[in-house]
Amino acid sequence: MEELHSWNKCINKLELGIFPTPLYRMTNAEGFLNYKPIYIKRDDITGLGPGGNKTRSLEYILGDAVRQDSNVIIASGPLQSNLCTLAACACSKLKLNCILVHSGEKPDKFEGNLLLNKILDVDAHYIGEVSENERTKYVDELFVKLEKEGKRPYIIMNGGSTGYGALGYVNAIYEIFKQCKELGFRINEIFAPGGNGGVAAGLIYGNAILGFPFKINIISVEYDKDTLSNHIRNIIKEVEEITQIPFNYKLEESCSIIDDYSGKGWGRNTIESEQLVLDFPKMEGIFIENVYNSKALVGMFDMIRKSRVNGEVCFIHTGGFGSLFSQW
Ligand SMILES: *Cc1c(COP(=O)(O)O)cnc(C)c1O
Repeated sequence: MEELHSWNKCINKLELGIFPTPLYRMTNAEGFLNYKPIYIKRDDITGLGPGGNKTRSLEYILGDAVRQDSNVIIASGPLQSNLCTLAACACSKLKLNCILVHSGEKPDKFEGNLLLNKILDVDAHYIGEVSENERTKYVDELFVKLEKEGKRPYIIMNGGSTGYGALGYVNAIYEIFKQCKELGFRINEIFAPGGNGGVAAGLIYGNAILGFPFKINIISVEYDKDTLSNHIRNIIKEVEEITQIPFNYKLEESCSIIDDYSGKGWGRNTIESEQLVLDFPKMEGIFIENVYNSKALVGMFDMIRKSRVNGEVCFIHTGGFGSLFSQW
């Protein structure tokens, strides 16, 4: 814990959200599953724009950008990228210019996150249905062009799932640890969705630094277990470089990576996840979207039903609310 503070002092962290986010029991879900206690950590309401995990990541990523005196932030992703919208919100608050690069065609009707981007009046480049590599190439060229114009651009890499981004979730696990003490809660197992592995890397690394108070379960929403594990290892390496505090553990011994619930990959529903998007709000008054949290919550519910968990469980809701409005 002391170590966490020591590196926090030398890293530039901005305040973009409202923390700590609420942590409380989901009593209706407990009744539904006949299991208790089940907690939820409301990282869907982080206070910036439509909320979500990217607020925590951006506090460190844009902290790095500001430290480097950058004045144009480039974020990229698919049309409904949560990172893009949250980056645009953060840049408004910080009075930085923001350029969004979307792989996809400019739509006739702006829905979901795109509507929010439009309200923010952000500069958006629609480069058509290109691969991630081609999008990266476009972003790199844009960077060079902006530098030639005398601007100081900064690229947010890999959808924010980077070493700096993951620091947000090192902090989050510490936040949960402190909250448990203050509220008198005991939590044994934590569940969170895994896309590119930034949230996962932060949680796993932070949990190790704290001495493993929790068992971390990552439900993959896209990649198979080996691919996601490699992404997480690479991000943990980046975190180590930033903090200079080594992670001396084997990944497979520090967490569970579960790829049984990802279906056919990113943005593609399973029958169960599609149903839970409809059922969960009726249960707890909390919305989940189709890409991340529905699959992760299906996984947690299923593992509870199959007695594959022990003791108190907690779900980290990573948000994505903006995208829900384009999914129907
Ligand atoms: C980006 C994102 C995640 C997690 O992504 P990682 O790349 O694994 O860090 C989870 N939920 C939502 C809603 C997101 O936008």
